[in-house]
Amino acid sequence: MDISANRLLVVDDQPDILDFVGQVAESVGYEVRLANDAAQFREAVRSFRPTLMLLDLQMPQTDGIELIRELGATGTRASILISSGMDQRVLQSAEQLGIAHGLKMAGFLQKPIMLADLEAILGQHLRAPRVPTEDELRRAIDRAQLLVHYQPKCMLADGRWTVVGVEGLIRWEHPEFGLVYPDAFIPLAEKTGLIAALTDFVLQEGIRQLGDWRAQGTDLDLSVNLSPHLVRELDFPDRLSDLMRGHALPNARLTLEITETAALEDPARTRDILTRLRVKDFGLSLDDFGTGFSSLTQLYRMPFNELKLDKSLGIELHQSAEARTIVRSLVELAHNLGLKVCTEGVETAAALKFLELAGSDFVQGYYLGRPVAATAIPALAARSPALAAAG
Ligand code: C2E
Ligand code: MG
Ligand code: MG
Repeated sequence: MDISANRLLVVDDQPDILDFVGQVAESVGYEVRLANDAAQFREAVRSFRPTLMLLDLQMPQTDGIELIRELGATGTRASILISSGMDQRVLQSAEQLGIAHGLKMAGFLQKPIMLADLEAILGQHLRAPRVPTEDELRRAIDRAQLLVHYQPKCMLADGRWTVVGVEGLIRWEHPEFGLVYPDAFIPLAEKTGLIAALTDFVLQEGIRQLGDWRAQGTDLDLSVNLSPHLVRELDFPDRLSDLMRGHALPNARLTLEITETAALEDPARTRDILTRLRVKDFGLSLDDFGTGFSSLTQLYRMPFNELKLDKSLGIELHQSAEARTIVRSLVELAHNLGLKVCTEGVETAAALKFLELAGSDFVQGYYLGRPVAATAIPALAARSPALAAAG
């Protein structure tokens, strides 16, 4: 997965032009955001982080020149194209103004916009996909560009799905590319060893956050993903206990999610560490079960207390009888082994209803809540009793 999405922001007061440019840009390979006034435009510059903008010079309330001046102040690194029906000299002087404000001016489009011109200019600015480099990731850690989002984890209580915990999921707020998701950089972090620093960050940040929520009256459990490569340090269980104690939190509040490949690397050492984590009362969850090299052996040899069914199973539930059969059987298997089950990828009411009947102890998925910033969690948790079990 790469980090350089091509995001085009178009501002124009004419809806038909917005539609036209939007459609062409999408067909060329852009993610597109349309704005028909200055307020929408300002909001989109902040939240959408365009890599390319197309500005209309003449609009009723705010003209393109004012927007260029404003953009100069934001320090945006996006390339800027201007469009207008006015003559070349006006366009050129607007471009000079942009350059004077330190903007990356990318040329202009004469109105009426011709399809061939538009396709050509958008094509020229399309950036090739690229993966992040080790240096960039190292800088991200040093410069505090990492952050944690939290996805609600729900349990059935009195016939209602209630938020009882969250899974901490790392994000990278890249200055140029915007929010980058873990699939684009976890493999790199694992290859370079930066995964240790990254995991420390998630643990520290997540545990601190748990303490803060608790102080505000929202008592939750936290799950954190632990890379297989980190289940090597023998003092890890003790360090983690110290961290929890520092925030006056019982160890049982924290669950570590590990993918099944983890256990395969050095079974004796892995078992030593995992067993001591359980002895200290931390939760241990076998993550992404049902994908790749599922090893049933690890399930009963290692001291897991939760089985987390991969989101690909949850997503299929509403349309696949096979997925339903597999999930039903895995829930039964896990329960027979004394494990709790959490099903991920719950995207529909039908899937939730099925899981209720199948006896999945916990559920997680977009239907119940997407990963969000920490500040959004207390409100989600507070209103969760209102989320009646589906059906
Ligand atoms: P995961 O641990 O299985 O996390 C669940 C992923 O599924 C998350 O993606 C989440 O956004 C996504 N998801 C949740 N509900 C739904 C749903 O209903 N539908 C769909 N389509 N997707 C859903 P995300 O945040 O992109 O994380 C991807 C993976 O990156 C995680 O999978 C985990 O393996 C890894 N990861 C995330 N944070 C960390 C971390 O701090 N350390 C390590 N080592 N790995 C991490
Ligand atoms: Mg996980
Ligand atoms: Mg998972």
